[in-house]
Amino acid sequence: MSEITTQNPFAIWHGKPRSSIQWEPSIDEDKCTGCGMCIVTCGEKRNVFGYDFDRKKAVVMYPENCMVGCNNCTVGCLWGAITHPDVSEVKGISRKLSMDQLRKELESKLKANPGLLV
Ligand code: SF4
Ligand code: SF4
Repeated sequence: MSEITTQNPFAIWHGKPRSSIQWEPSIDEDKCTGCGMCIVTCGEKRNVFGYDFDRKKAVVMYPENCMVGCNNCTVGCLWGAITHPDVSEVKGISRKLSMDQLRKELESKLKANPGLLV
């Protein structure tokens, strides 16, 4: 009988282990008002944030689910409580990605979404 395994769909980022990339939100609890905007902003499948009802604070629960390069919650937090690392590091990592890997991903995406071809 084959073993059933659950795999994090975000464990690999364009061929690189996600765990090797520093990109996740940090919350300054002194600034967090507990409004919940970050929780509803982050994609349903990623669900990076949880919520502490007792303290009325958002908490970063699954940092490696954060989409590399996304900063929607940092922008969306009206209280300036969320920060992300310097994006230049992520850009540096992106520049070193395998072009073969990206080409394969591009071909696969366009094959699945022919309406994107112009
Ligand atoms: S959006 Fe900002 S203020 Fe609101 S819960 Fe999230 S971290 Fe706290
Ligand atoms: S940056 Fe994007 S993916 Fe990451 S926690 Fe914020 S909203 Fe979610």
